[in-house]
Order: sequence, then structure tokens, then C-alpha cells
Amino acid sequence: MESSLESKVVLVTGASSGIGRAAALALSHEGAIVVAAGRRAERLQTLVEEAPGEMVAMELDVTEPESVDQVVSAVVARFGRLDALVNNAGLMLAGMILNADTDEWVRMVETNLLGSMRVAHAALPHLIESHGSYVQVSSTSGRISSAGAAAYSATKFGITAFAESFRQEATPYGVRTIVVEPGFVATELVNHTTDPVMREAADRIGESMRTLQPEDIAAAVVYALGQPDHVAVNEILVRPTDQL
Ligand code: NDP
Repeated sequence: MESSLESKVVLVTGASSGIGRAAALALSHEGAIVVAAGRRAERLQTLVEEAPGEMVAMELDVTEPESVDQVVSAVVARFGRLDALVNNAGLMLAGMILNADTDEWVRMVETNLLGSMRVAHAALPHLIESHGSYVQVSSTSGRISSAGAAAYSATKFGITAFAESFRQEATPYGVRTIVVEPGFVATELVNHTTDPVMREAADRIGESMRTLQPEDIAAAVVYALGQPDHVAVNEILVRPTDQL
């Protein structure tokens, strides 16, 4: 039987590593035409070479409005439509509020919140046209905030809130909105944290449990996008079994 994702044009942001990379590969495996976007062009090229189906790489920096507009326009120019957006690009710089380097807060807000909002905004007219789907990768940190993750959590609560407004505005046009909220996934995400105490704590948490793998979240994305048109899986929360 033909997959319902066959020949769907899907833009995946943050496809150069981790969850985005796994989602791009899983969607390609289902027959989707995947546009893999991110800043690290070499990584994207390696991914394209591994893809089982049609995949193209596009350089994207979600913190640059022109880059966002260019990529979304280029997808539509090349393939004639956009059927789904997997808005996944993100950055975590864990740290306590006391003595925080607030430049790190700005980077997270510009990437996780404003960057994601910009991509969703640029994609919306095309998703309306295709009666498509918007997948937003948020986090368990978008549901429960914790010490050491104030700014990151603020961006994830924020993007979940944005996605709910998007859902209410886009639903009348037949556009589905899906928020995916992963718990601890073994990726490069924690490597960017500059605070050594936080890095060590994250490594300890990772070692204390059977963490999720990027493919576990990719499977959730494929599940939601593969549903028949009348089914909107609006929210998926996936934690490692061992995570409190
Ligand atoms: P990775 O660090 O492996 O992936 C992050 C991706 O985001 C990279 O592909 C990176 O690509 C991209 N990215 C970062 N900044 C930008 C930017 N300015 N413009 C475009 N792309 C950018 O981590 P994960 O796979 O774990 O993270 C993916 C998403 O999942 C994030 O939104 C994260 O918050 C979320 N998440 C992760 C969890 C985890 O435990 N790992 C848990 C819950 C949510 P490049 O550097 O090439 O631009």
C-alpha cells in the first residue's frame, strides 16, 4: 500500500543532526520529498547522500529573517508546494538565572522562539494552499520548567503557546498542527551548554537512564503526519521510560 506521505513535500529545520536528521531520514523512507535545512552545509550534504528517497539540502539560519523567507520560497519554487513543516531547529544553553550570561538567553529566544515563529509564519500561506501540516518540536521543558533551564523553558513554553494560537487560526483552512514534546533524547543538544556544572549534570542525567534516541521522536513525527487527513494528532509527549 502506498504510504500517505508518498511524494509529500516536507521541510525539516535543524536537519543536520539529532532529531531533525532522524526525522528527515524517516520521512524520506516513507516516500516524502524532504528539504533538509540547517546551517552546517556539509552535514546536510552527507544526509542527502544517505537518504533513501528524494532529498535536497538548503542552508538556513532561522535567526535571519531573509534566510527563512528565501528557503521557504525556494522550496515552493522548486517543488510547487509545501505539504508539511517540521519546525525542529533549536538550541539549549542550560544555566542558572543567578550570574547568567544573558547573551545566551538572547540566542535561545532568537532561535527556539522567534526563529521557529518566523519559519511557521513564512510557511503558513503555503500550508493553507496544500491543506498541510505544521509540526512544532517543543519539549517537556515546554510543560514543566526546572532549575537550570529557565530561559530554555521560557522559549519552549512560548513556542507551545504560539503553536496553539497557530492551531486555532489555521484549523479553519484545513491545516493540522502537531506539537511534539520530547523528554531526554541523546543528541548534540547538551554539548552547546557552556556552564561546566550544567554540562556535568546533563551528562549524569543521561547516564542514569535509558535515554530516547532521535529515531524515537522521528517515529512520532511520521505517525502524526501519516494519519488520514481528518485526524489531527495535536500533541505528542514522549519521555524515556526511566525519566521522572
Ligand atoms: P541537535 O543539537 O542535534 O540539533 C539541533 C538542530 O538545530 C541542528 O540541526 C542545528 O543545525 C539546528 N539549528 C540550531 N540553530 C539553528 C539556526 N540558527 N538555524 C537553523 N538551524 C539551527 O539537538 P536535538 O536534535 O536534540 O534538537 C532538536 C530539537 O529538539 C530542538 O528544538 C530541541 O530543543 C528539541 N528537544 C530536544 C531534546 C533532547 O533531549 N535532545 C528534548 C526536547 C526537545 P545547524 O547547527 O547545522 O544549524
